[in-house]
Amino acid sequence: MDIQKIREDFPILSRTVYGKPLVYLDNGATTQKPRMVVDSLVNEYYSVNANVHRGVHYLSQQATELHEASREAVRRFINARGVSEIVFTRGTTESVNLLASSFGEEFMGEGDEVIVSVMEHHSNIVPWQLLATRKGIRLKVIPMNDRGELLLDEYEKLFTERTKIVSVTQVSNVLGTVNPIKEMVRVAHAHNVPFMVDAAQSVPHMKVDVQELDADFLVFSAHKMYGPTGVGVLYGKEEWLDRLPPYQGGGEMIQHVSFEKTTFNELPFKFEAGTPDYIGTTGLAKAIDYMNAVGMERIAAHESELTAYALERLRAIPDMRMFGEAAERGAVISFLVGNIHHFDLGTLLDRLGIAVRTGHHCAQPLMQRLGVEGTVRASFALYNTKEEVDALVAGIERVRRMF
Ligand code: PLP
Repeated sequence: MDIQKIREDFPILSRTVYGKPLVYLDNGATTQKPRMVVDSLVNEYYSVNANVHRGVHYLSQQATELHEASREAVRRFINARGVSEIVFTRGTTESVNLLASSFGEEFMGEGDEVIVSVMEHHSNIVPWQLLATRKGIRLKVIPMNDRGELLLDEYEKLFTERTKIVSVTQVSNVLGTVNPIKEMVRVAHAHNVPFMVDAAQSVPHMKVDVQELDADFLVFSAHKMYGPTGVGVLYGKEEWLDRLPPYQGGGEMIQHVSFEKTTFNELPFKFEAGTPDYIGTTGLAKAIDYMNAVGMERIAAHESELTAYALERLRAIPDMRMFGEAAERGAVISFLVGNIHHFDLGTLLDRLGIAVRTGHHCAQPLMQRLGVEGTVRASFALYNTKEEVDALVAGIERVRRMF
């Protein structure tokens, strides 16, 4: 992999902040965008723009073709059986809300249970909690060990006859833990319970195959995988999506409307009320093209090598405390150094041009489990380099000397 050549595809990486070269290590929050993704947005606005699905005219048909070709690109990317299983949303958060709302309405009642894990992002906790308030369902939580690995024995014990769904992240956005999703899905299915995978932090970094995982639902955001903001995906097995009621009502999702009775559109349009972000979906397809051109295996290998290097160098810093030591881990490292507040460390690194994330990372229950208020998080993407890791280490050393 020629990293320098790859970096040239991302114009923002050559900018400076506070007169220092940008070292962008906040990829877990959002990745930067390659030129071909941004160009596709601009080009489509300039030369194709028209509302999709409803037009007989040339531009509308061309925009519709691009939009639906993007659905096919997503289908191939995660190896879904059909495009009817790919629902476009605004992002992971909306995908989880859609599922919790529709699934909860159809299949859950008072006293029913959803299993989540202690390392979930708020967007895979709060939608279920809203359902708890509305319908009286209960959340059950898979615990983890001190290395940040889910306890699978405890997971199995959580199932009861009231368990209706399991919803767990494939990769923790704080600990980097890669959860054994395939095995966890198998356990859920043995109890006749469907499984939703939060793939927000996995699809940018590894090959994800919904059929291999046998996932019933899987959600992710375009902006975390080199695509534009405002677009996401809910994958669902057709037999499940067919049985779920619509989430929002409006145009596009209907077949026929009268004041007496409305019938709904076929899959996946039943879940896509209103004008979709058809420009954004083209951007997502371009991001997928980009990742495929580099190669998912090469991306995974590069990030794995970079993470191993970063772990080794960071561990050598005195007073370093790392959070997450799972055997299987992704390109995310959370840490604290001595008594330095995470916010101070992040702010001072920023002055050196180094962008990291600080705080609770939208995972406050996990912070409680770790016994901290927040951490500093460095998260890598395909364009990061060992030199950038060295800059991070040098930056931390410099801040340490100041305290
Ligand atoms: N799930 C995980 C594991 C995440 O890391 C994030 C974002 O950080 C989300 C869900 C929410 O994604 P979005 O804000 O794009 O909806």
